[in-house]
Amino acid sequence: MKKRVMVIGWDCAAPELVFDAFKDDMPNTQRLMQEGVYGQLESTIPPITVPAWMCMMTSRDPGELGIYGFRNRQDYTYDTLTIPNSDAIKVPTLWELLGQEQKRSVVLGVPLTYPAKQFPGWMVTSFLTPVDPNYPLTETNLQWTFPPRLKREIAQIARDYMIDIPHFRTDKRAELEMQLLKMTRARFKFARYLLEKKSWDFFMMVEMGSDRLHHAFWRYWDKTHPKYEPNSPFTNTMRNYYRTLDEKLGKMLSCVDEETTVIIVSDHGAKRMDGGICVNEWLRKHGYLTLKTEPKDITRFTPDMVDWDQTMAWGEGGYYGRIFLNVVGREPNGIVKAEDYEIVRDELKTQLEGITDESGQNINTRVFKPQEIYRECNNIPPDLIVYFGDLYWRSVGSVGYNSIYTYENDTGPDDCNHAEMGMFIINGNRHLHGLHRTKSIYDIAPTVLKEFGIDIPDAMQGVPI
Ligand SMILES: [Zn+2]
Repeated sequence: MKKRVMVIGWDCAAPELVFDAFKDDMPNTQRLMQEGVYGQLESTIPPITVPAWMCMMTSRDPGELGIYGFRNRQDYTYDTLTIPNSDAIKVPTLWELLGQEQKRSVVLGVPLTYPAKQFPGWMVTSFLTPVDPNYPLTETNLQWTFPPRLKREIAQIARDYMIDIPHFRTDKRAELEMQLLKMTRARFKFARYLLEKKSWDFFMMVEMGSDRLHHAFWRYWDKTHPKYEPNSPFTNTMRNYYRTLDEKLGKMLSCVDEETTVIIVSDHGAKRMDGGICVNEWLRKHGYLTLKTEPKDITRFTPDMVDWDQTMAWGEGGYYGRIFLNVVGREPNGIVKAEDYEIVRDELKTQLEGITDESGQNINTRVFKPQEIYRECNNIPPDLIVYFGDLYWRSVGSVGYNSIYTYENDTGPDDCNHAEMGMFIINGNRHLHGLHRTKSIYDIAPTVLKEFGIDIPDAMQGVPI
């Protein structure tokens, strides 16, 4: 029988849920754990979907890919943050490397694959695919499948197929719960069709529903969440969803033979969100950022508000913070002299690490310099990457709060942040009897190549598990 590898990605799946809290609801998953090796999977810095999945699929870090998050600077002007697409990936992905060895792949829902490119296999792209929710997806003429005719098969097999849930930051949670299950069922229905009907060597899929689930329902499960609601109608939503993931896994396992290596992975974990640090308010308070006028209300931060001749640094919101310095000769109105760059950066780092909560307790903020954590820094990295409160706090970019703290999210309801530790399970039928290990997201691509007996390129950072 020929060697095959099947990877099922559960975006954001948290090890403490899969391996502990919900394990009794996940018998198929437990069986894989007991027969194989499993544990925490350390994510990228930052632990964010883009670039994490692509770092996993290339075994290169965000700096090498030149993708530091969802939005990246295009040049050193003040307003050029754009969302990347698959054209930004300049190094070979796992399915491209396998294609060079005459291996055929199925790639379903892996983030940052739109627009789909020609390769030996079948691809359906992921969220960040520009779809019009008012128009049937299966009739949308975009490069969201390869080959393009694969759309017709989706229309026949899984008419309800959704790339993502259009409005997942919503207070209408009952409706969201139904949509999540509908999306996940349709994706796995089509996944099983691909498993059975296509002649593949490598199968890779990512389900985004688990990420949307955590962000909307974490407070109903986690008793330590500041907004925990006991006796809510959503108390069991998270558990039920994981049970669904496990049922779908069981059906996928029944489609593959004993020679198939099965890998379950997530790109990062999840943790409760205690609140937000208003990064630009913090920078204003500490004299790094000056606005032309005082905002009357909570306002989205835009470069035209800023008195750039009086500004040394500004920040971006998100699950982690990014800080950019306004440097002479680099930014259009730079004021930080090149020789002072490291002094200002170090001063910022020290002050950020001293941030306390409203009661004066240090919240354990961690600050990274891209040049110290990546092998290379391609394109334009942020000057500092910030995990506010060890990621129990998010970064809020908007201004006009009159405080550096906020407990409402400026981009819609959101209950959880991303955690650095995702999870993995590998079952190669080698009777490893439930070995427990912590591994790195960079180890997945080398592991898959080794399963096929293919040489691991020197440029890959990880080692086979
Ligand atoms: Zn993710």
